[in-house]
Amino acid sequence: MRALPEHLQPNFLAGPYIDRRAHLREVSDWQAEARGDPSARFLLSRGTTLAVDMNPLRAAFVDHRHPLVQKAADSSMVLLGWFEETRCVLIQIDESDEAPIELRFEELRPLASELDAAEAGLLAYARALIHWQKRHRYCGICGAPNEPRRGGHVMHCSNPSCGADSFPRIDPAIIVLVTDGDRALLGRQASWAPNRYSTIAGFVEPGESLEDAVAREVLEETGVIITHCRYHSSQPWPFPSSLMLGYMATAVPGSPAMAGDELEDARWFSREDIRDGRAILPPVTSISRRLITHWLDAEPR
Ligand SMILES: [Zn+2]
Repeated sequence: MRALPEHLQPNFLAGPYIDRRAHLREVSDWQAEARGDPSARFLLSRGTTLAVDMNPLRAAFVDHRHPLVQKAADSSMVLLGWFEETRCVLIQIDESDEAPIELRFEELRPLASELDAAEAGLLAYARALIHWQKRHRYCGICGAPNEPRRGGHVMHCSNPSCGADSFPRIDPAIIVLVTDGDRALLGRQASWAPNRYSTIAGFVEPGESLEDAVAREVLEETGVIITHCRYHSSQPWPFPSSLMLGYMATAVPGSPAMAGDELEDARWFSREDIRDGRAILPPVTSISRRLITHWLDAEPR
């Protein structure tokens, strides 16, 4: 198979790691079907933590014979889709129940980059749904309890005179590498490790296009006015519910950079500065790093 061109390669936590088969969420007894499927894989969560095996780090799936699967309430289950050609279902264990001794539950965020990319994508997807369901246990309109519908992908108000549906929340955020051709604009927050720099990022506000948000965030955080921006790629970042929309932007050469309220420092770096290690870059799994690498590679050494 031919490798995808650079700009079409999925970012970490993205890509075709799962076949969602969304139409099967409409099957009325999908939970019973899953429990009766000997090939199905069940992913267990407790609170916002997920069951994993350590050494090496893997998702700890259980099969349909596991007691927690057999006793799971239908409302605790979410149909994730088909992972590596097998049915894959999330089961949310009640936090008041004792955790099963043979399973280890961990928060995903600090571990994600050590996981196989497909499993990291799957667990991040599951965690996004867990967080959203937990925050939507009651209807935001009438206050009645919500109940999961459509494979756990809709929270439906149980009050018949209301019946409002809530859908998974995704918060769009832009992330942008600004260049003036030869230099890239990076910033750092005071809480970061010394010398760590990254691209500029921020949430999109109501009434803004993505391009508007790019221009506003760059101006607010660095004082730089951009003249043009172009979409690059995106990355789901479900900690708890962001979608990072990556852009490349250009500014007038020689624009002075000055850190705004959210940053401790904002400055221009040449390719040589970065290759010489004068900034510690974000991890290779981040879209920020990918944007920087894209720019670095645009000009041969
Ligand atoms: Zn309601």
